[in-house]
Amino acid sequence: MASRARPRDSAIKPLGPEAEIMDDSLSAGRSLMAPAPARNWALFLDLDGTLLDIAATPSSVVMPPTLVRDLQGAARALNGALAIVSGRALGEIDRLLHPLRLAGGSEHGAVIRLPDGTQDQTCVPVPPGWVQAFIELQRACPGVLIEAKPHNLVAHFRHAPAATTQVRRLAEALLTREPDAFELLEAKMAIEIRPRAATKARPVHRLMELTPFAGRYPVFVGDDVTDEDGFAAARAHGGLALDVATYFGGEPQDVRHWLKRVADL
Ligand SMILES: [Mg+2]
Repeated sequence: MASRARPRDSAIKPLGPEAEIMDDSLSAGRSLMAPAPARNWALFLDLDGTLLDIAATPSSVVMPPTLVRDLQGAARALNGALAIVSGRALGEIDRLLHPLRLAGGSEHGAVIRLPDGTQDQTCVPVPPGWVQAFIELQRACPGVLIEAKPHNLVAHFRHAPAATTQVRRLAEALLTREPDAFELLEAKMAIEIRPRAATKARPVHRLMELTPFAGRYPVFVGDDVTDEDGFAAARAHGGLALDVATYFGGEPQDVRHWLKRVADL
């Protein structure tokens, strides 16, 4: 079972009077109201489990009918300072959000699309032999689903929980070959191998150097353990981390309603 991302209350920066209420509530362990959006924000949004309801498989995710329009409206309201930061590959993100091609990080930040549309890809790709080893495991364990992206190898065992140990052992065995370059990540009913350098902090740091993100107040919204790097990066730039469980009751539809408020700014 994946561990969940939790906000680190002591690191959240004040955002006006609301912030004091939030800090008090955090220390009491209660759920919190999401803050009212502002035009000086730079918004960093995870996709699955944040804007999109978690589906049985990544490919069976359902796109809410107004999401693209609301993202477009929010990006316009923030003068373009809106980024998608997801574990998905860039092509998948673009397919889901068509016709939008937003700045952000894909494959957990291994690939960064800059505001001018160019890409920064400096992370090492997963060795092809590792992908093959996982595909062989998938054949041996029906129900295990393998997602192979250039910089990210994921084994989902939501439909094969009995294979959890076998998947983990294979991942750990592969990692011993290149422990400095890659790391293992526990996600929701899945195990991931990714380059150590590929984190959701990368796109936040990179984009915050560039127009239209630079000088804005970064707000990162995410739901899972991989988002913690993005949370930390937003805080490092004086911004705010919004965990979906805490601020939106764990409901992507509540995040989507809140996004409409950004679009209406
Ligand atoms: Mg997520």
